[in-house]
Amino acid sequence: MELLYEGKAKRIYSTKHQDEVICEFKDSLTAFNGEKKDTQKGKGALNLAITTLIFQELEKAGIPTHLIRKLDNTKQLVKKCEIILIEVVVRNIAAGSLAKRLGLKEGERLPFTIVEFYYKKDELNDPLINDDHAMILNLVKDRKELELLREYGKKINTFLIDFFDKAGMTLVDFKVEFGRDAKGNIILADEITPDSCRLWDKKTGKKLDKDIFRQDLGDLMSAYKEVLQRISQ
Ligand code: UDP
Repeated sequence: MELLYEGKAKRIYSTKHQDEVICEFKDSLTAFNGEKKDTQKGKGALNLAITTLIFQELEKAGIPTHLIRKLDNTKQLVKKCEIILIEVVVRNIAAGSLAKRLGLKEGERLPFTIVEFYYKKDELNDPLINDDHAMILNLVKDRKELELLREYGKKINTFLIDFFDKAGMTLVDFKVEFGRDAKGNIILADEITPDSCRLWDKKTGKKLDKDIFRQDLGDLMSAYKEVLQRISQ
């Protein structure tokens, strides 16, 4: 196993197969583009369990993903893909940067689901971009691919709203990333975890996601454990 890449939350290793890599989930936590940092022992394992379960269900629902199988507590075998440098954010309720930028109240339900694109570029602080920007930066082949990213984003949203609702949680917003596999197909990559979603308890509104870390709201690990426990039932 050779380390191919190390990011803020993951390490990627090569395997004997050219089209497969191992993805290891780290215990580190970052926010505000890496300005705020922490480590929580066991967070990687919790997130791996959560994302594996969700990706398996998404595959069944017709969304192609990079997941092959879970290997151990912190590692999964995934299809090697070239990551598209766009963060696809889907929002149902105003929160975070949207609430701040447009002056909306956190918790305000949006009249319809919105999809946003952010350019994955740390040096630029991941700026919000439109379709024209994505085209001039050559982030996709053509506008049809942007439409596909939007469609997948919405389809994942429809699935996740119901999935989390059944587990007593409201899906506020989330971020997904896509990659191109060896055949050139666009597939869901990265993760879907409480690091990349906003999840609120349906009854109390209690936050069960990374906002606990961003806003110093208390014990992150017990919230993530609760998310895993609720979706595992
Ligand atoms: N998000 C993420 N990674 C990022 C930026 C955002 O996973 O680099 C997720 C975030 O957890 C939330 C959604 O995308 O569920 C929308 O985030 P927002 O734009 O409100 O950004 P933030 O509040 O992180 O500034």
